[in-house]
Amino acid sequence: MRDAGGEITSKAQKVHDVIIVGGGPAGLTAGLYLARARMDVVLWEKDMPGGAPALTERIENYPGFPGGIPGIELAERMRQQAEEFGLAIKPFCPMRSMRREDDLLVVMGEEGEEAARAVILAMGMRPAQLGVPGEKEYHGRGVSYCATCDGAFFRDAVVAVVGGGNSAVEEALFLTRFASRVVIVHRRDRLRASRILQERVLRNPKVEIRWNRVVKEIRGDGKRVHSLVLASTESEELEEIPVQGVFLYVGNIPNTEAVRGFLELDERGFIVTDEQLMTNVRGVFAAGDVRKGSVWQVAGAVGDGVRAALNAQYYVEELKGIAYR
Ligand code: NAP
Repeated sequence: MRDAGGEITSKAQKVHDVIIVGGGPAGLTAGLYLARARMDVVLWEKDMPGGAPALTERIENYPGFPGGIPGIELAERMRQQAEEFGLAIKPFCPMRSMRREDDLLVVMGEEGEEAARAVILAMGMRPAQLGVPGEKEYHGRGVSYCATCDGAFFRDAVVAVVGGGNSAVEEALFLTRFASRVVIVHRRDRLRASRILQERVLRNPKVEIRWNRVVKEIRGDGKRVHSLVLASTESEELEEIPVQGVFLYVGNIPNTEAVRGFLELDERGFIVTDEQLMTNVRGVFAAGDVRKGSVWQVAGAVGDGVRAALNAQYYVEELKGIAYR
């Protein structure tokens, strides 16, 4: 809205140039670029900044770190670097919804709202649930979606990892440090994970792969998981295997509930953008895993963060009538 003097104002108290939602690699990179451009930028993060890398034991395919780097260290370095240039980060500040007020965008949270001329959505994605009996009941009592967080609780135990993608295989390999045996349960006869991970997992003596199997049920004694019921995808065969832990890596769901109905999502809930990474809502950009077409890589998220930041900067400068290009 405009006040009597024609100035853009908002019911929300302060008007930033850009609000970034999400503090993973995409959001932190966008924040680094915008802070260096001396824009008024604030980053809302629902937990602590770091995103998916902070929950990854080691990252080997982010350029510049031969030998790899612990995910938590990479995440921490990204946060530190962005803050060095003045990025304001608000931890434990989840976005609940968004609305437009003329040229402004208002981001609403649990404890209030803030307005900006542009918004970069970088909320990432979270692990999908399998939806089998026992999964909810034993979550935190044997069922986990994060080996990096919970793996150490399974020292000398037998654990199962469900899925055949990069996450499942990487985390299965990580779990071999603690568990006496790791059983990968995969619904096909071939892994989806990259070749180097396949080579490693196939030659690891602690790993056994149950091919062409799906999980029917996670069983326990009421307190903790004690077994998995598997069904063959090729026959009627059912089997019960004893395990103390089950790690689920069966895909991911974008964190877009807060913007559902406000902007265009694809059929899986990922945010649709144009070449500038702008959504169908003017001034709202998306970057990283949450974006349709993402390559779901840390390096890809960083690239998205740069593109979204520069395009958001040009958009804001045009809006303010100070375009330099
Ligand atoms: P993903 O690639 O989507 O793999 C999910 C796995 O779960 C697939 O093997 C899939 O089987 C299986 N699956 C899905 N639904 C299932 C169900 N209902 N029951 C049983 N199995 C089911 O997910 P992700 O591994 O989390 O990876 C997500 C993205 O991040 C990918 O693009 C990946 O490359 C990337 N990523 C990269 C790295 C890395 O570069 N180091 C690490 C982690 C993730 P099918 O194979 O039969 O479909």
